[in-house]
Amino acid sequence: MSAVSDRKSQVEFCLAQQQEWDLIVVGGGITGAGVMLRAAQAGMKVLLLEQNDFAWGTSSRSSKMVHGGLRYLVSGQFSLTRESVRERELLSRQLPGLVKPMSYVYAHYKGKWVTRIGFRWLMKLYDLFAGRRTHRALNFDETLLMLPGMRDENLIGGTRFEDAVTDDARLVMRTLDEARALGGAALNYVKVNSLIKAQERVAGVEAEDKETQQHYSLRSKCVINATGVWVDSLWDGAGEQAGQHVRPLRGSHIVLPGHLLPIGSALALPHPDDGRNVFIFPWDNTTVVGTTDLDHKADLDFEASISQAELEYLLTLVNYQFPLCNISAADLISTWAGVRPVLSEDDTVSPSDEKREHACWSQPGLVSISGGKLTTFRCIADNALALAKECCDLPNFEPLPEQLFVPIKKTLKPEYLSTAQHYRLRGRYGKQLDKWITQSINTGYIDNSPFLWCELGWAAQDQQVVHLDDLLLRRTRIGLQLKQGGTKWLPEIRELCQALLGWDDAQWSAEEERYRLIISSYYSIPEAVNG
Ligand SMILES: Cc1cc2nc3c(=O)[nH]c(=O)nc-3n(C[C@H](O)[C@H](O)[C@H](O)COP(=O)(O)OP(=O)(O)OC[C@H]3O[C@@H](n4cnc5c(N)ncnc54)[C@H](O)[C@@H]3O)c2cc1C
Repeated sequence: MSAVSDRKSQVEFCLAQQQEWDLIVVGGGITGAGVMLRAAQAGMKVLLLEQNDFAWGTSSRSSKMVHGGLRYLVSGQFSLTRESVRERELLSRQLPGLVKPMSYVYAHYKGKWVTRIGFRWLMKLYDLFAGRRTHRALNFDETLLMLPGMRDENLIGGTRFEDAVTDDARLVMRTLDEARALGGAALNYVKVNSLIKAQERVAGVEAEDKETQQHYSLRSKCVINATGVWVDSLWDGAGEQAGQHVRPLRGSHIVLPGHLLPIGSALALPHPDDGRNVFIFPWDNTTVVGTTDLDHKADLDFEASISQAELEYLLTLVNYQFPLCNISAADLISTWAGVRPVLSEDDTVSPSDEKREHACWSQPGLVSISGGKLTTFRCIADNALALAKECCDLPNFEPLPEQLFVPIKKTLKPEYLSTAQHYRLRGRYGKQLDKWITQSINTGYIDNSPFLWCELGWAAQDQQVVHLDDLLLRRTRIGLQLKQGGTKWLPEIRELCQALLGWDDAQWSAEEERYRLIISSYYSIPEAVNG
């Protein structure tokens, strides 16, 4: 079955039937996916609807760290840090190959941020939360040995510790796959236009399939509004209940070829202009620098993109901290920007001083959630479901298991895959891999990325790809990791995927055009600097 006919039958099955769902989740980012998984684990009949592609919002544009967040510890957000560190440990254990340990180095400069001794105390607390020690003090020489070429003026030494990194969009897909295996249903490109109300409570949603413009009325015992930065569009005034409002804050990143700034550890470094900590970290074969933190005033229905001022800010950090690198905008592979739904009481507070905790609000039949972190999605989901139990007419559900992902059985590694490839693929695709790996697969790498050609075919066939950007920006990340979004490989990608996607030549051409426009508008180097 091609992706087109597969989607048609799924839409008919989920939307056209007159059935009442226990739960409808609106929003297919990590929060919505987490709620769907936990609801499916509790035995509920659950449907998730996403207006664009899964993870299209903030959840494909984060810094991809599964971490406690030292910044939160320093600013006194102890419970968020403890929860995050514990979730990091849990996800690393349950998703090896997808949530991977990453070494971090914090460089200590005279007179900057916290003192070295203060930092050591923070690290002790960090490790205490995790239940294991990962940190170690580095002297001046050791720090430079780990980070050759880094500015050493006023450097006193460093601290090495451990957090984790992931592919955020794949984490969303993996969570959805797990929920589907338990009977849940998830559809992309279906927008919820409004809520259905009956007897003073929310009783379902009015939805629209954006691909066919077909409208559907869907009934449910409970609706969970997990639309992140869009939370108020479904319920006017979610945050206002608690005297807060959603303040959209943009964070942007730049992506460099790994060989131009080869680092084995992530670094947190103070920016020379304002002292804010910015990360430089390895992500697959690239090095990423980010993030900025500023009010996002643009229309939320358009993808966010980096501004010229942000680009210059991030390049200044790299060239200041690594004076011999001399990186210019022309060296970059790509950029990306995400918008954080931060719950704020006062817009005059500096963006970086805003708290990152999530909040849930309820009214009869509806729970709305916003804020929080990728790392803590399980806690956020459990919190939302606990509230749903109180305010919605849900069937009595089982206590939620600690185990989030079903452990993957160790299977024999096929000889055509290296151990590292097998480990990575198992983490990314879980049990699904078994059905694909039996076929004769192309284990060649796509250019200089860690993605294999066979991964494109699997996604095109089985992973609800509706547009080319779903395939290249979120199912795989070659749109971020190859120059010009990997467009030079489009002829080969077409040969492999067009039939699997069920697209005729005209549709393929339209998709290519759409993809090129998305890459140049939102993931490239701002033109004024480029030109
Ligand atoms: C720059 C940046 C860096 C970050 N780095 C990290 C990090 O390193 N580690 C970490 O733990 N966290 C990080 N975060 C936070 C993390 O990314 C977010 O907390 C998380 O992705 C939010 O997920 P979400 O599902 O709530 O929102 P989203 O991912 O935005 O999902 C909401 C979805 O709802 C959909 N939607 C909206 N309206 C409708 C509608 N009417 N009908 C149907 N669908 C709708 C949207 O299309 C969207 O896909 C970062 C955030 C930013 C901005």
